[in-house]
Order: sequence, then C-alpha cells, then structure tokens
Amino acid sequence: MKVIKDRETLDGWLEECNRQGDEVGFIPTMGALHAGHLSLVAEAQKSCSKTIVSIFVNPTQFGPGEDFAQYPRTFTEDRAKLEEVGCDAVFLPSTETVYPPGGQTFIRVEPLASQLCGASRPGHFQGVATVVSILLNLVRPRRAYFGVKDYQQFTLIKQMVRDLAMAVEVVGVAIVREQDGLALSSRNSYLTAVEREQATALYRALTAAKTLYQDGESDSKILEDSARQVLLAAGIEKIDYVEVRHSETLVKEWSGQTPVMLIAAKVGKTRLIDNMLLNQETAINEGNG
Ligand code: AMP
Repeated sequence: MKVIKDRETLDGWLEECNRQGDEVGFIPTMGALHAGHLSLVAEAQKSCSKTIVSIFVNPTQFGPGEDFAQYPRTFTEDRAKLEEVGCDAVFLPSTETVYPPGGQTFIRVEPLASQLCGASRPGHFQGVATVVSILLNLVRPRRAYFGVKDYQQFTLIKQMVRDLAMAVEVVGVAIVREQDGLALSSRNSYLTAVEREQATALYRALTAAKTLYQDGESDSKILEDSARQVLLAAGIEKIDYVEVRHSETLVKEWSGQTPVMLIAAKVGKTRLIDNMLLNQETAINEGNG
C-alpha cells in the first residue's frame, strides 16, 4: 500500500492510475479505523479498481472545548488494517497541505448545516464541507464513500456536490453495528464499561420508534417521545435531539415519504449519534447514492 503524505506524491499516484485507466474510489476518514470504515473500503473495492483512504483529523470541524486534541490517533494500527483489506493507498496530509496558509474560502451549506448536530456544534459542518471539498479536489476520485452513520453529514455532502456541480459520485454505506446494536464509532473508545452498556439505548430507542412506525404510527412527536423514553430509562438524560425527518432532505415535513429518525445524546461526556430509516424495507443505499 502506497503511503502518501504530500500533494506531489498524490499527483504522481493519480497520474499512474489515469494512465492505467483506473477508476479511483475515495474514503475520507479521521482515522482510528474500525469495521465501519473498512466497510466503506470494501464497498469502494466493489466498483473501483483503485481505493484510497485519507486520514486527517480536521481541526476546522471541532469547536472550542471539543475533543480535537484527545481524538484517537492510531496510525500504525490503521495502516495495518488497510494493508490487510488490500487498500491501494493511504493519504496522510499535513494541515498545511489541506489548508495552505492564507486561505480565505469556506463552504456553507444552509440551512442544512445549522440544524440538528449543527445547532449544538456551530461551525462543525462548515468545517466538514470545506475539508471534504478540498480533499475531493486533491484526490479527484470517480466515487467517494460516506457512512450513513453520519446521516446529516452524508445529506449535506450530497447537497454540496450537487450545488457545486462537483464531478464525483457520492455513495452512502450502511451503518456497521456491534452485536448489541451500538453503531461503531472511533469515539466509543471514550466510554467506560457502564457507559458502554448505557449506549446501547440509542439503538433500542431507534428500534422502538421503528416498530411503532411500522405498526402505523405516523405522528413525529409520538415517535420521538417513544425513543426519548428508552433513552431516559437507560439513564441517558443529556439528549441533544431526537427527531424524525424526511430521509432525503432532512426537512421536518415527511408525510408520504420515508422518515429517518436521528438521535444525538451524551453518554457520560461522550456525544454519540445514531439514526435509522423507519421504513427499513427501503435498502439503505437505495435512492441515497
Ligand atoms: P470518521 O473517521 O468518523 O470521520 O468517519 C469516516 C467515515 O466513516 C464517515 O463517512 C463515517 O460516516 C463512516 N463511518 C463511521 N462509523 C461508521 C459505521 N459504524 N458504519 C458505517 N460507516 C461509518
């Protein structure tokens, strides 16, 4: 696997791909790789002849007091995992490579960016949209892969790519979960044993709402209340939001369309997010790509 740290080496690798007629699939990550990230690599390998993963803990998407300094950085293990699944290249840019000094350009996707997670993390999605657009411009892939675990992020990137006529296909990949339903996340490593147990309530809350929906309930408030009850019963009180939204646009009005339930809550000091399409008959990738 090629380890690429600068723009020149990346350009050389991409030129070689071009010469060979390869289609490049790109997976942007912040590292601390787990099976969720590796499922994105596997998905890319199905339809692209070359895959490249970037690892960059993006400072601009962390707010003051968030976990930028603390975020796990495990490159030796990450590299071994990527080698093992046959990834072709890993891109580890420096902050100066991504953000050359003197930069003045930021991407705002509004109103998508200022609601849900954006309401409690001001500037977060501007940081995400900006870094993803820079990385897409550096790597210029045919397809880019994102987990629907970060559902708002996935929706916002699709919107940005459409609005800016970016020449990349955005592919959404289903959430990889632990046996007990907890969505894999690099931040799960912050949880104590007791919190790890509590954290399963997010999945149970989503499942409870889904069951209610499939039994015919279509009132957002009732669905949201049922999920809240499950969180509260597990001792999760710092609930940021529990919302049912339109699964394509994330607007509140979803009647007649597939609803998605989104949850963000703090378990101890760790902020976790999860989501579920309430109509699971719809394959998670269908219509999302
Ligand atoms: P991160 O390193 O957390 O920025 O995540 C990089 C990519 O992996 C994003 O597109 C995430 O949505 C995706 N991802 C993270 N966790 C999971 C998971 N449990 N299942 C599927 N994709 C995931």
